[in-house]
Amino acid sequence: MTVEIPKASIPKALTGASLTIDLAAIVANYRLLCAQAAPARTAAVVKANAYGLGAEQVAGALQRAGCRDFFVAHLHEALSLKPTLAPGAVFYVLNGLQPGAQAACADAGIIPVINSLEQAKLWRDLAAERGVVLPAAVQVDSGMARLGLMAADVAVLAADTDFFSHVSLALVMSHLACGDEPGAASNAEQLGRFEALAGQLPPAPRSLANSGGIFLPVGFHGDLARPGVSLYGCAPNDAPNPMRPVVRLDARVIQVRQVAAGEGVGYGLTYHRERPGQIATIAIGYADGWLRSLSNVGGAYSHGIRLPIAGRVSMDSITLDVTALIEQGFTLGLGDEVELLGPHQTLEDVARDAGTIPYEILTGLGQRFHRTYLEG
Ligand SMILES: *Cc1c(COP(=O)(O)O)cnc(C)c1O
Repeated sequence: MTVEIPKASIPKALTGASLTIDLAAIVANYRLLCAQAAPARTAAVVKANAYGLGAEQVAGALQRAGCRDFFVAHLHEALSLKPTLAPGAVFYVLNGLQPGAQAACADAGIIPVINSLEQAKLWRDLAAERGVVLPAAVQVDSGMARLGLMAADVAVLAADTDFFSHVSLALVMSHLACGDEPGAASNAEQLGRFEALAGQLPPAPRSLANSGGIFLPVGFHGDLARPGVSLYGCAPNDAPNPMRPVVRLDARVIQVRQVAAGEGVGYGLTYHRERPGQIATIAIGYADGWLRSLSNVGGAYSHGIRLPIAGRVSMDSITLDVTALIEQGFTLGLGDEVELLGPHQTLEDVARDAGTIPYEILTGLGQRFHRTYLEG
């Protein structure tokens, strides 16, 4: 069944490209991650609009599939998403509290991830002022030097009985720097430090594993796993990808033209053919997240034939060398679609060509696409 969600979608004829998001595949990926992480429970990381795919649709589908816990980066993401879900969803804000945000966070029943003693004080003071006990997650830095209480701060917080009379510990968490590298020595070191630091705090469920961490030994799974990227079909590490693909992106042809031998194509005239050929221009560009670093490197597909990007990626259009396709007897014209993400080209392929990671391709996917959500 194809569910069209008009609110999120621009009619196809008015756009240059169509993004298809398979919610059933996201649910299947969630179930696979649940099985792999068990007996730990599995949350869903839906920050950055569910990695660009639509937080409302994704979180709704996952909640219907039994997911209870959701992680976002910013409080405003939780505030806008929570009311769209059925009651019972638990939200954690990874970046924790900004000064002035405490009341809104507490009013909405959202759990901040406390990353520093300053954030701990903001939350404790609000609880004291209101005369209530407020739940918090506490993040400890087990060796990434990004977010979380350092060892000395953990000792200070652990000794602060006043804090724990105002704040109940809902979760102790940390984050792996190399979760996608099963052979990295830092993983075991981080696990050891995490357990030692968590052990100083009052008893609470523990959470360490992102997508990659779920595919590390069971000791890394804790009580609550926090996958993001693998829900959306990306490989958790360098091994063959066990996840189901979730996104498909097709861009439309807006012009096909002949080029002479030696004729320059695109800004800077950086592409030339030795023989005459055919160039197709498609209606997608770097303003849609199809990165300029794909200039003269990336490609698209039609009938399984690779169509190399010819010249530089422009803001709203890309030129493809389609000579090989035409020479094999296929035609291509105004309104026809070429595949940018799908069975012939994965997010991993595009990320490699662009010199980046699948996360950046996903979260950069533009707002100008016709979007279709498929539900099982
Ligand atoms: C983004 C994030 C995750 C999810 O990571 P993936 O690699 O996408 O699975 C989990 N935990 C924290 C703290 C994060 O910032």
